[in-house]
Parts: sequence; C-alpha cells; structure tokens
Amino acid sequence: MAILICGGAGYIGSHVNKLLNRKGYETIVLDNLVHGHREAVKWGAFVKRDLSREEDIESVFQAYKIDAVFHFAAFAYVGESVEFPEKYYFNNVVNTLNLLKVMRRYGCGKIIFSSTCATYGEPDSVPITEEQKQNPINPYGMTKLMVEKIFRDYGKAYGLHYVVLRYFNAAGADIEGEIGESHRPETHLIPLVLDAAAGKREDVKVFGADYDTPDGSCVRDYIHVLDLAEAHVLALRYLEQGGRSDFFNLGNERGTSVLEVIQAVKKVTGKDFTVTYADRRPGDPAILVGSSKKAERVLGWKANYPDIEEIVAHAWKWYGRATY
Ligand code: UDP
Repeated sequence: MAILICGGAGYIGSHVNKLLNRKGYETIVLDNLVHGHREAVKWGAFVKRDLSREEDIESVFQAYKIDAVFHFAAFAYVGESVEFPEKYYFNNVVNTLNLLKVMRRYGCGKIIFSSTCATYGEPDSVPITEEQKQNPINPYGMTKLMVEKIFRDYGKAYGLHYVVLRYFNAAGADIEGEIGESHRPETHLIPLVLDAAAGKREDVKVFGADYDTPDGSCVRDYIHVLDLAEAHVLALRYLEQGGRSDFFNLGNERGTSVLEVIQAVKKVTGKDFTVTYADRRPGDPAILVGSSKKAERVLGWKANYPDIEEIVAHAWKWYGRATY
C-alpha cells in the first residue's frame, strides 16, 4: 500500500514526504513542478503529472495501489488570487474534483487535505476555533473552503474519509537542512526578510502599518513546517484507525506581528537592514491566530517548535545552504 502525495515537491508537501518515509511509508509524489522543486523530492518515487489531466492521475493509480492521498497541490498566493481568480478556481477546485473522481474510480477513499486559516476571513474573535464562521475575503481562501464543502458532500454520498487541516502561517525548515521554503516568485514574509538580512534585497516592506493591532502591522500565527508534518502523519494514522472525517486548525495560538518577525530575524541573524512601510496588501485580514486544541485532543498533536526565533533560526540555516 502506497501513499500518494499530490504537490509533494512543494514546501509543506516535501516535509511531509520526508517524514512519511522516515516512518516507513512508501510514497509517490505527484507534482507538475509549476511551483514545486524536483530537488525537494529526495524520498520515495516521483512522477511529473498534472491534476488538470484525468489521464495523468489515472496513470498513477494504475501503476500503484494507493491507500491514501495527501493533497497539497494548489496555488497559494493571496494577492494573485485576487487578480486572477479564474486561475485559482480551476487549479484548486476543478483539479481537486479530477483527483476525487479518479480516487473514487479506484476505490481509494482516504484523503488528507491542506486547507487554510484564509477560509475564516476576518475572524469574530481570536484564537479562531474550527466552529467559527468561514467567510473568506480572498479567492484563494474561497477555493479552499469550496473543497472543504465538496468533501462534506462526497463523505455523505460516497463515503469519502477525509481530514482537513487548516494551516495558519507555515514557516521554518527541516532541521537537518535538507529541504526548506523556496517560492518563485517569493512573496512570503520570512524568506523575504531573510533575503534582506543576507543583503540580497534592499529593504523589507511592511504591508500596512494602520491595522487595528498592537503595533499596527498584521498579526499572524506562525507554525513550524515540521509541526505541520507531524500533524499529517497523525491524521493519516487517525484515518487508518477508522477516525471519522473532521476539520482541524494547526497553529500555535500565539500571534506575531510583521514587525516582531522582522525583529526576530534581526536577532537571529545578527544583521540589520532597512524596513519601509507600504500600503496594505489586498485580501489580508488584520489578525489570524488559531486554536489547535481540537487537533491536540483528537489527533494527539502538539507543536514542538512554537518559538518564532527558533522557527526563524531553522529557516536561516536552510537559507544558508539552499539548493533550490
Ligand atoms: N507581509 C509584509 N511584507 C511582505 C510580505 C508579507 O508585510 O513583503 C505581511 C503580509 O501582509 C501578511 C504577513 O506578512 O500580513 C504574512 O504574509 P505571507 O505572505 O508570508 O503569508 P500569508 O499570510 O499570505 O499566508
């Protein structure tokens, strides 16, 4: 029995792939390499396929007996999703429907899905629990919420078993420095600030200094990618043991502002750099901080690396030896 990892050449998927192999699972990574990196797939098998083509997905199910699917493959740039929603709805929603169709055809009924805190929109209160209303304020979040709703319906009608993991802000890197975060274009805060620390970028722009937050900059809940990876393995075990389909937040329950992240990078790297202020980025809520109590209770998960400086230190270590 093998595990299919769609989008396993990307940031979070590659860390999950490494951990699954460590735990003795056989994995097959499917990725179209539009944003993923072939060099990030150092474990298990790799197939360059595209979820927009049903025959591509089918070929993998023909070649391997797939027991469960992890689905990371998605476009995930909030700003881009506001500008090009069609691209997002096709890639994130339609392609997921293709995947589910082939899974059904081959009798594969377990999926673990990457969802996001962006499905909540502007929260009524923080920390956000799974019961809070979901009202995304950008198309990216909407695509993920649509897939969540599709799962509910497929669960009821076709018996699909799923675990939906709503990540807060993934950050950090493999402690051994074998894989890490690398996006092209890079839009994520921590890698951009590390660029500035390394002298590869003139300055860091803070998107919005007039939010209703303690220091005026956006507050996010940064969660170590290794903690996310652990949660995925626990979610798989949960489904294997017959756990019922469910939705879980994965965050640290602590908010860190953009300015605090910049401070942490300055402290960890010992480098100084210019910080400038820019307009708010469309689609950004002021504060996103999650409660992960449910994941702790039901999955037995606990974050091992909640400290922002440790998260940044691991990202910096990878930054110094990045091969992609
Ligand atoms: N951000 C920023 N400057 C940048 C990139 C990001 O101020 O150059 C802010 C962004 O507005 C958000 C936070 O940093 O409030 C985290 O953004 P990121 O793109 O890393 O993750 P997202 O929250 O979009 O998943």
